[in-house]
Amino acid sequence: MPPDSEDRPADTPDRPDLRHASPGAVTPVSDRPTSGGSAPEPPYGGASPPPTTPSSTAEFLDAILQTKSELFRENREVLRDSYVPARLPHRDGEIRQIAEVLAPALRGDVPSNLLLYGKIGTGKTAVVTQVRQDLQRRAEAGAAKLAFISINCGNIDTAYSLLQNIGNTFARTDAERIPTGWSLDRVQSAMRRLMDSKGGTIVLILDEIDRLVARSGDNVLYTLSQINTELEDARLVLVGISNDLKFTNHLDARVRSRLNEEKILFDPYKAPQLQDILQDRARVAFRDGVVDPGVIELCAAYAQLESGDARRALALLRLAAEMAERDRAKRITRDHVVKAKNRLEKDIIVECCRSLPPHCKVLLYAILQSYERRRTGVLTGEVYDN
Ligand code: ADP
Ligand code: MG
Repeated sequence: MPPDSEDRPADTPDRPDLRHASPGAVTPVSDRPTSGGSAPEPPYGGASPPPTTPSSTAEFLDAILQTKSELFRENREVLRDSYVPARLPHRDGEIRQIAEVLAPALRGDVPSNLLLYGKIGTGKTAVVTQVRQDLQRRAEAGAAKLAFISINCGNIDTAYSLLQNIGNTFARTDAERIPTGWSLDRVQSAMRRLMDSKGGTIVLILDEIDRLVARSGDNVLYTLSQINTELEDARLVLVGISNDLKFTNHLDARVRSRLNEEKILFDPYKAPQLQDILQDRARVAFRDGVVDPGVIELCAAYAQLESGDARRALALLRLAAEMAERDRAKRITRDHVVKAKNRLEKDIIVECCRSLPPHCKVLLYAILQSYERRRTGVLTGEVYDN
């Protein structure tokens, strides 16, 4: 990628479908100097610089903390992933289906296992978190014996740590906790005892379950899917969430049929749906009138190209707003969105290159060297000679 690409508007080939954006949505970025580009970025979260020139770091930090953002309201966390909005537009159908499957637990019945799958950023985690919170409130109000455990298998991706974490959720004293270093069989029976001591229905949400299987195989899922035959006072319900649509193809047939008792697909969002999601957040995150017309539409159009990923749409809007702050702009414009998109793409490419194995890095370097020399197509033999 040419070094000056960050601040240029999108090139034609990856220009998004702007049918939902206002006409001329992508306008060239002006030449006005900004604090981005090669200049060092401010060492704070994008807030406008303080009005006076402070003389020490402490004064500098004080001044930053006292400076109110002209764009953001108080709660800028609203645009972050960790924020769970009160409303999840365009997911009513999925929320109803999940609630229907899990609601029997409120009556003391054991629900079916459930698998949710769909591409990244389609709202799976957000929807399950919301349904879980609502069911938990109902269970507490009605005294149903219902417990939830949510585990992100991106972080906990071995059989041992998974069973240990499940068991330790129910440990009431340090002595009851499962330590590291036991045999897997011992962990498994300790976990069963702890689950039985809790009793009732236990809903285990395994987010990013595809990563667990990729890392550790499906034996542990087999164990969990059979465990009700060995439990006395508790019943386990599995809710798997997968970003990989073909994840169940790799599973043992018995595990697959257990996990697939109910299955819900999350379709990617379309641009108008992403616009609604962004509008909701923008109303809470930004001061009135600071978002230019077309900004939300452009973020949504770009994110639709990225397989309808709401996380990407929100990241674009957040970065565009932070770039506007660094420009000391009074409004967030479409130019800021274009800059934000180029920055995000660059970050992804850099991250991707960083994670390549060494021989691929060397190959990439050789290809780049050939390209630098020829500036046209690169020949295999020449790359090899490099
Ligand atoms: P997934 O788990 O499918 O990868 P997430 O549930 O983590 O996706 O959603 C990604 C981001 O988009 C989160 O910040 C989430 O709050 C937001 N989001 C997704 N769907 C919606 C929606 N329908 N309404 C509001 N925010 C949403
Ligand atoms: Mg998720």
